[in-house]
Amino acid sequence: MKLTICHLYPDLLDLYGDRGNILALAARCRWRGIEPEIQEVSLGESLDFTGMDILFLGGGSDREQGILVQDLMRREKDLRQAIENGLVVLGICGGYQMLGNYYQMAGGEKIPGLGILDLWTIAGTKRLIGNVVAELHPTALKIDSESNLARDNSELKLRTLVGFENHSGKTYLGKGVSPLGKVSVGHGNNDQDGTEGVRYRNVFGTYLHGPLLPKNPHLTDILLELALIRRGFDSCLTELDDYLETLAHKTMVNKLLKQA
Ligand code: GLN
Repeated sequence: MKLTICHLYPDLLDLYGDRGNILALAARCRWRGIEPEIQEVSLGESLDFTGMDILFLGGGSDREQGILVQDLMRREKDLRQAIENGLVVLGICGGYQMLGNYYQMAGGEKIPGLGILDLWTIAGTKRLIGNVVAELHPTALKIDSESNLARDNSELKLRTLVGFENHSGKTYLGKGVSPLGKVSVGHGNNDQDGTEGVRYRNVFGTYLHGPLLPKNPHLTDILLELALIRRGFDSCLTELDDYLETLAHKTMVNKLLKQA
């Protein structure tokens, strides 16, 4: 069994160690005997969204977002079709922002987004920086499936997400999308409405760097399970011994909640 994981613009969207998310996905595949095939695709290189299982877009500075936007917009039609067909996507910060309608930078200049998710981003004057704890939204990690894999968040051992944020953009969610979580510590999407991140179909966007996935093994596994289900697999991922990951996650959450 193989899963294809594509890192789009690895040379541009890879702020704050976000490549660690690819490593976490690959490790949790290998630990289960699933072979991860990692593709790296950047400006001007051909890409077949139908041939991949998970697409990853990391964080990037305003400058990098401006450099890649034309190339990304050329891929909009194929990516939209793949997302509507259930492609699993993880977008972090800048990668998350580019899935929306636009990103208006502090000077007022707008970088157009793909417009696949109804959300928009407006840069404020202050950067939103620091650790984040978010309580998962009830449907954040839900698996809708006719197979026996369907489940909601209630079975998850971890009901929080933890990471750190560093962005000037404030993201506002529109119609047909749900937040990933509610902020308990930190700023989240826009430091106003208490939301963090977004989910639309199998697309997950978040401001959490860290990298995100090593700190949140439950989210890593949901991404893998959604990709396997889309491939027609109907058996749950084998349980891993996550004692240390779970302990580290809970320790971070408790410490940050105490400090808040
Ligand atoms: N350039 C964007 C912002 O400042 C995204 C930053 C990031 O990816 N960390 O909001």
